[in-house]
Amino acid sequence: QKFVYDFTEGNKDLKDLLGGKGANLAEMTNLGLPVPPGFTITTEACKVYLDTGAEPAALRAEVSAHLDALEQQMGRRLGDAADPLLVSVRSGAKFSMPGMMDTVLNIGLSDASVGGLAAQAAAADGSGDRFAWDSYRRLIQMFGKTVLGVEGDLFEEALERAKQAKGTSDDLDLDAADLKAIVEEFKGIVRDHTGRDFPQDPREQMDLAVHAVFDSWNSDRAKLYRRQERIPGDLATAVNICSMVFGNLGADSGTGVAFTRDPASGHAGVYGDYLQNAQGEDVVAGIRNTMQLAELEGLDKTSYDRLMTIMETLENHYRDLCDIEFTIERGKLWMLQTRVGKRTAAAAFRIAVQLVDQGLIDLDEALHRVNGAQLAQLMFPRFDEATKAERVAWGIAASPGAAVGKAVFDSYTAVKWSRSGEQVILVRRETNPDDLDGMIAAEGILTSRGGKTSHAAVVARGMGKTCVCGAEELEVDTKKRRFTTADGKVVEEGDLISIDGSTGKVYLGEVPVVPSPVVEYFEGTLHAGADEQGGLVQAVHRLMAHADVRRRLRVRANADNADDANRARRFGAQGIGLCRTEHMFLGEERRREVEQLILADNDKDRDTALATLMPLQKGDFVELFQAMDGLPVTVRLLDPPLHEFLPDITELSVRVALAEARKDPNENDLRLLQAVHKLHEQNPMLGLRGVRLGLVIPGLFGMQVRAIAEAAAERRLGGGDPRPEVMIPLVGTVQELEIVRDECELVLAEVAAATGVKLDIKLGTMIELPRAALTAGQIAEAAEFFSFGTNDLTQTVWGFSRDDVEASFFTAYLEKGIFGVSPFETIDRDGVGALVEHAVREGRKTRPDLKLGVCGEHGGDPDSVHFFHRAGLDYVSCSPFRIPVARLEAGRAAI
Ligand code: PEP
Ligand code: MG
Repeated sequence: QKFVYDFTEGNKDLKDLLGGKGANLAEMTNLGLPVPPGFTITTEACKVYLDTGAEPAALRAEVSAHLDALEQQMGRRLGDAADPLLVSVRSGAKFSMPGMMDTVLNIGLSDASVGGLAAQAAAADGSGDRFAWDSYRRLIQMFGKTVLGVEGDLFEEALERAKQAKGTSDDLDLDAADLKAIVEEFKGIVRDHTGRDFPQDPREQMDLAVHAVFDSWNSDRAKLYRRQERIPGDLATAVNICSMVFGNLGADSGTGVAFTRDPASGHAGVYGDYLQNAQGEDVVAGIRNTMQLAELEGLDKTSYDRLMTIMETLENHYRDLCDIEFTIERGKLWMLQTRVGKRTAAAAFRIAVQLVDQGLIDLDEALHRVNGAQLAQLMFPRFDEATKAERVAWGIAASPGAAVGKAVFDSYTAVKWSRSGEQVILVRRETNPDDLDGMIAAEGILTSRGGKTSHAAVVARGMGKTCVCGAEELEVDTKKRRFTTADGKVVEEGDLISIDGSTGKVYLGEVPVVPSPVVEYFEGTLHAGADEQGGLVQAVHRLMAHADVRRRLRVRANADNADDANRARRFGAQGIGLCRTEHMFLGEERRREVEQLILADNDKDRDTALATLMPLQKGDFVELFQAMDGLPVTVRLLDPPLHEFLPDITELSVRVALAEARKDPNENDLRLLQAVHKLHEQNPMLGLRGVRLGLVIPGLFGMQVRAIAEAAAERRLGGGDPRPEVMIPLVGTVQELEIVRDECELVLAEVAAATGVKLDIKLGTMIELPRAALTAGQIAEAAEFFSFGTNDLTQTVWGFSRDDVEASFFTAYLEKGIFGVSPFETIDRDGVGALVEHAVREGRKTRPDLKLGVCGEHGGDPDSVHFFHRAGLDYVSCSPFRIPVARLEAGRAAI
C-alpha cells in the first residue's frame, strides 16, 4: 500500500485518498499551473494512525524518499543552516472543513537555519532579517498552538505587548530586533507550558506537525462541524507537505483568495481579496483588512493578468465556480489551492444555468448542482426595502437571508439564549472556529471585520445562515457586550437588530419582511420570463421544468382546506396525498361537536353529534374537490389523538374543584370530568386513535365516507371531476381494515343508489405501524393503496414519543453522533426505511398494481425523497411550501 503521493502523481478524482486539497493541487500541477512542489500523505495513513495510535510502519521511509526528491528538485535541504527548504504542513479532508483542522507553515526554521533564510531573502533586498525572524516567530506561534497545545492567547498577548512598547498597532512596524526578542519570548512560553524546548530538528518538526494534523480530525470543533454538515466521521484527513513560497517578502509580495465568479450572486466578474506583504492564513482569518482583488491590477499587472488567465483555465477545466488561494512571491504568482467553491443558493441556480448556456454542462448536470435545501432558502422572505427602519451600517453581504434577533456578543450567550427560545444575532469583531456553537445557535451573524472570505462568511454560507461581515462602521466591544454605531448609538446585549445578508445592511430594531420573488414566481404573480433578481427566477424556472421532465415520483400535498389545496396546486401538486379530517374540526365550535361525539354514551346522542358533523364535513369536501378538480384527493378518516380533542384534564379538575368550593357544582362539567377520566390516556399517541376509534364509535367512519361520497356526487352532477380516495389510519392488521371496508362499501352503494352517480372511490390504508409493514402482504388484500405514515412509523419503530423526544434528549443524541439528524426529519434508512422496503415488496406481491405513497413529514425532506424514489414509491406528499423542493429533489433523484 502506497501512503505518499507526489503532486505529480495524483488527480482531482482521488479526493477519498488525497483529500480535496491534495487532489486539486495534483490536478493543477498536471495542468501545468504554478504550484509549489510537494507531496500528500494519504487519508489511509491517517486512518491507521487514528485506529492504532501510531503511523503505519512504512510511512517514515516513504516520506523520506519523497522529501529527498523534493529537496533535489528545489536544490535545498529541509532546515539546512545555509539555505533552508521550508515546507507547510496542511490538512485536507475529502470535504472542505474551513478552518476546522490544523495547518503549520514555515516548518524547517530553527535557531540554526533562521540566518540562512535571512541570507536567502537578503540576496534580493535588505529586508531579509526582518522577514526571517518574522517567519520564525510565526512558526513557533503556530506550532506551539496547534502541535504542542499551548494556549494561543499567550503568544497573541506577547505580540500585542511588543507592539504597544513600540507605540504601534501594525505588525509591520516591528523590526528584526523586535521580532528576534519575540522569538526568544515565544520559545520561553513553549518551554514554560510544555516542559520541553521548541524542537530544533526540522524532521522532528515535520513529523510532529503531521501527527497534529492527523489528530485534528478528531478535535471537538471538527467533529461538531462534521455533524452539522453531515460529513461522515470515518473519512480521515490527508496531509499536504508543500514547499513554502512567501507572501511576506515585501511590498511586491502578498497573498490572496479569489473566486472565478461572485459566490454570493453567481455573476461573472473579478471577486476576491488581496493582502500585500502577508502570509497564508492572514486573509482567511480576516485579521487585517484586505484590498479588493481588482486593485491588484494596479499593483502588479503581470501577476494579475496571469491570475485571470489561470482562473479561466480552472473554470473551464472544472466546469464550475472555483475558489483559489494564491501567493505572489516577489512578483511571481503561485497557486496554493483550488476547489469547486461554496456559493449561496441564488448563485448556485444562476451559475448552473449560465454554465448550460456557455455549453460547459448539460441540464442534467445543472440539476445535479442545485438542491432542495438551496431552493428552500430562496423561498425565505426578505426584508421590506421600502421600510423606514434605521440603517446603522452597511457591511458585506456574505450569506443571504433576513435575520432578526437580539444582539449577543459571545458564543456561550448565543447558545444559552437560543436554548431558552430567544432568537439571537451573534455579533463579533471577527469569528474563529471557537465561535461555531454560537453561529449554529444564532439566526444570523454580524461581524465588523473581514471580507467575503473571512471565517464568518465562509462558515455561514456553508450553513445557510444569514451573515453580514466587515461592517466597519460598527465598533464592537465584546467585553462590554455592546457595539457603537458611526453616529454614536449604542446597542447593548439583548437589543433587537435586523441584518440583511443579501444586501449587507444592518438595522436597529425589528424590520418587516416581504415574500421572496421565487415564491411569487411559484404563486404565479411573477412571470418566469421576468429578469427579476438578475435571472434568478428564470434559472429556477428552467431547472424546475427540467426536474419535472426527469422525475418519476409524483408530488402531492398534505392539505386539509381549500386555501392550502389551491396554493399546493399553484406550486405544482399533482393531488392531495393526505387530508387530515381531524384538522377540519379544530375550530372551537366544531371541536365541541367532536367532543360530544366522543363522549356520547348512547345511540341518540351519538347520532345527533354525527348528524351535526355530516354537513360540515360534506361542505369541506366539496371545496377541496373543487380546488383539486381532476386530481386525486386522499381523505384520511378521523385520526385524532384524543388529548387534542378532549378538555385538558387538569384544567377541568380545577374548574370542578373551584365550583365545588363555591358550592355551585356544574352538572355538565362533572359529567365531562368523569368521561375524561375514563378516556384519559398515559400515551395518547398509542391510544384510542385512527381505525381503533372508527371501530369503537359506531357510525363515525360511515358518516365520513358518506360525506365524501355525497360531496363527490354533488361535484360530478355540477360538471366537476372529483377523485376522492378513502384512507384508513393506524391499521395494524388486515382484520381491522376488512371491517371498515365492509361498512364503507355499504355506504358507497347507498349513496350511489340515492344520487344515481357511480363513483369509483379507492379504499386504502396508511402503513404507519411496524405490524402493518411486516404484514403488508396480507393488508394489501384489503387495500388498493398504501400511504406510508412515516411520522408514526418512526415513532413506533424507534419507540420515540414523537411529541416529546425532540425537546428532551435529542440534543444529547445529536451531540454524541448517535444520529446526524433527527429521524423525524430525515428517514432512518436502516430501520424505518427497511420496513418501508419490505412493505413495498410484500404489498406488490399481493397486488401488483398497488399504488404507493408517503405522507409523513419525510415526504418533503430532500434526502428522504431520494430514498422513496429508490424504494419505488409512486408519489410523495408534503406540505404545500415544500412541494417545489420535493419536485426538484425527485428530479435530481432520477438523473
Ligand atoms: C404519519 O404518521 O406519518 C402521518 C402522516 O399521520 P399523522 O402525522 O397525522 O399521524
Ligand atoms: Mg400517523
